[in-house]
Amino acid sequence: MKLKTKIHLLTTLLMLVILVATNIGVYFLYEELAYDTEYKQLQHRGDELSTALSKLEVQTNIQQVIRAYMPTDGAVHVYDERQNLKMKVQATLDMQDAKYITFEMPAIWPDGTVVEIELVQSMEEVMRTMSLLKIILILVTLLAAIPILLASLALSRLILQPLERLSTTMKKSADTGKYEKIELTDKGKDELTEISRTFNGMMEKLEQHYQKQQQFVSNASHELKTPITVIESYAKLLLRRGFDNEAVTKESLQAIANESARMHEMVLQLLELAKNKEQLDVQWEQIELASLLENTATQMQQAYHRPFIVDEAVPDHIYSDEKMLKQLLFILLDNARKYSEGKIQIHASEDNQYVFVTIQDFGDGIPEEHLSHLFERFYRVGKDRNRKTGGTGLGLAIAKELANQLLIKIEVESAVGKGSSFTLCIPKEEQQ
Ligand code: ADP
Repeated sequence: MKLKTKIHLLTTLLMLVILVATNIGVYFLYEELAYDTEYKQLQHRGDELSTALSKLEVQTNIQQVIRAYMPTDGAVHVYDERQNLKMKVQATLDMQDAKYITFEMPAIWPDGTVVEIELVQSMEEVMRTMSLLKIILILVTLLAAIPILLASLALSRLILQPLERLSTTMKKSADTGKYEKIELTDKGKDELTEISRTFNGMMEKLEQHYQKQQQFVSNASHELKTPITVIESYAKLLLRRGFDNEAVTKESLQAIANESARMHEMVLQLLELAKNKEQLDVQWEQIELASLLENTATQMQQAYHRPFIVDEAVPDHIYSDEKMLKQLLFILLDNARKYSEGKIQIHASEDNQYVFVTIQDFGDGIPEEHLSHLFERFYRVGKDRNRKTGGTGLGLAIAKELANQLLIKIEVESAVGKGSSFTLCIPKEEQQ
């Protein structure tokens, strides 16, 4: 059974059950009250009759007095001490088949004897009112069923329309392979509109991710194409002229070695970027800042024979992941080395919230218009300049991802011809 039919049936049934139960309740309550009122009236009449009888003289027309106190559609029976009918005063109607209530009480007859009077009241009138009430209640139930039916239809449509739209859009997405979105006609803030909005947001994110992925793959293959072409052409040159020309052989092998190294580096960086970066991977610990900076600088110095100068480190400790932070520092120091000639300075300072680690070089600098793109994958300021340095345009993208995981902000300042400084803003609060 369809969800729509289920909601429709259930709500209608529930409302009808409530309505019928209420009406039955009203009916029986009314009946109870009506009987109770009639009985009390009868009792009152009986009391009055008894008082009247006790005050009567023997010679008075008792029957007439009794008739005055007799219920409208009823009778009064008087029994003597031996339970024999002494007197019977009755309204015209035949009480044989009718439903009636009775009230009995002792009274003093004018001659001084004790008698029992029985007042009888026909319930014919009450029964008529009850059956009228029954018809009214049945009619009300039937009439109310129509708006209930319509309301439950409207309710099921209200709930299911957005869900149907959602399901149609999903099916369409699956069929066409496109990131379809739901058309949001109203500006409603209800939960179902919220679901549609969330779905659209999710689709948009998926589309963006897919496009990024596509862009990344096409960039990667484009970037790998150049070294492969270079290797291929030098290999062919080697085959043609390499056996008898030593200079050509040397040049070709050198170029092949360089390009292979570049490719190797690029593939390693691509793998690094493709890693599943989870916050959980971060091993937070207290790190001695001075020795971390000294260590990193010494390793760079030994590898490249360039001066990496560490200013006195303030503060003593920071809270981060040592391995990841070191990797981040290596990327920035390596860039500083690649794009400058002289010394490279490393400086640490702090304020209330952050510890700042700045890597300053005095090289070419970066023109302002490039600064906002530096952290994009494969972005390089000058392709020619980078081919010489062996850059791939992936270093800062990796640095950015590492920084994100370590909750570090990277700020860049640069002046063309004067040099660049990359500052890591490391938050001070301990992270778990
Ligand atoms: P690459 O592997 O090309 O160095 P990066 O992502 O590390 O890639 O850097 C992106 C670009 O930013 C580089 O191509 C370079 O032009 C520029 N760049 C990065 N660091 C510096 C720096 N310290 N000085 C000058 N230019 C830099």
